[in-house]
Amino acid sequence: MNAYIERVLAETKAKNANEPEFLQTVEEVLTSVEPLINAHPEYEKAAILERMIEPERTIEFRVTWMDDAGEWHVNRGYRVQYNAALGPFKGGLRFHPSVNLSIMKFLGFEQVYKDALTCLPIGGAKGGSDFDPNGKSDAEVMRFCQAFMTELYRHIGQDIDCPAGDVGVGGREVGYLYGQYRRLMGNAEMGAMSGKAVSTGGSILRPEATGFGAVYYLVEVLKHDGEDIKGKTIGISGYGNVGWGIMKKAADLGAKVTYLAGPDGYIHDPEGITTEEKLNFILEMRAKDSMHCKPYADKFGCEFVPGTKFWGAKDVDIYMPAATQNDVNLEWAKKIAESGVKYYIEVANMPTTNDALEFLKEQKHITVAPSKAVNACGVSVSALEMSQNAERLYWSAEEVDEKMHSIMTNIYNASVAAAERYGLGYDLVAGANIAGFEKVAEAMMAQGIF
Ligand code: GLU
Repeated sequence: MNAYIERVLAETKAKNANEPEFLQTVEEVLTSVEPLINAHPEYEKAAILERMIEPERTIEFRVTWMDDAGEWHVNRGYRVQYNAALGPFKGGLRFHPSVNLSIMKFLGFEQVYKDALTCLPIGGAKGGSDFDPNGKSDAEVMRFCQAFMTELYRHIGQDIDCPAGDVGVGGREVGYLYGQYRRLMGNAEMGAMSGKAVSTGGSILRPEATGFGAVYYLVEVLKHDGEDIKGKTIGISGYGNVGWGIMKKAADLGAKVTYLAGPDGYIHDPEGITTEEKLNFILEMRAKDSMHCKPYADKFGCEFVPGTKFWGAKDVDIYMPAATQNDVNLEWAKKIAESGVKYYIEVANMPTTNDALEFLKEQKHITVAPSKAVNACGVSVSALEMSQNAERLYWSAEEVDEKMHSIMTNIYNASVAAAERYGLGYDLVAGANIAGFEKVAEAMMAQGIF
């Protein structure tokens, strides 16, 4: 390994030994950009890697809120403002009991390169809280969001940092957060948050964007092999916004999601989750209880297998993990390889452990696509929302969709080109890392050392 990378990795591990998810992504990205670092010896003098690994600013704060019974609770809030070399900090907020600094830093680090890939003027950040919105009343969620923003507002702004949603933070939460921001600031600075409802300055197609974009990217991957998405079957994990968007767009294009995994097990619907009734039911099911997908099987009379994942099923053409980090470990990756499936398209942020990712990439019969590229359409439409807010205009669905298409095609093409440029062949994972990294490094070099 390149000596500079090796040294920085060792230092990072020593300094952040208690942050496993963060170390996982740093190791994955740094090892894959080795050809780029080899080609730029000047990066070491400018401490590029050290500066990329250290967030520009990390904010950690107390969030105190009252439940409906009048009891007080204290949660921890975060915003990791990772890198703003390309534009204002940009990235989502995650509300989930698993949230800690390691998870925030891993997500923030990935966001920097994802946002760079979009070629839009946005830096990278991530935030959130260990608050669990599941099972909370609407009033509790509102009070929590207001308490969270009462601290966060002083650190964000349309030219500083624009948070949006992520796991556990959807349109409702963004609405409450933005409402509190507006109240505290005393102005309607719409570009300070994205993922807003269209009625309050949001972009058309933002809720669909990540899932639709993932399918647009998939279409490019299939095209490369002379394949058509029409008639293909897809297995996904996760049925949040992203999973729902994939189901919807796949159905529009004549493909179908036949496997769906949730925290309680998986369902198998050979007919596909394609009709409006089924897609709407998914939305209702998630709104009621995001921990169980069994109600879908009960409602539509299909198979439900409790307590396990479907990775390894043979009667599916494409796997798309769209749930959360480290969904697929080496054991599952081996089952995936044995199934004979040809496409493994990551959608959730870091859904694959590093050893599983390495293993899947080694399988000649599988094309692996990385989440950084595949799920970048969500943040892209967020950036388009910022543009619309700055213009004080709304764009039509056609306009937004056309831009989504071209952004995702560009990301795919830029990744292919970057891998080829560095002699790596058709490697979508390294290609995406290199293309994103190169853009950030170039901007940092141009801005001098600080
Ligand atoms: N949380 C999403 C992501 O991982 C969206 C972020 C945004 O829209 O700013 O990219």
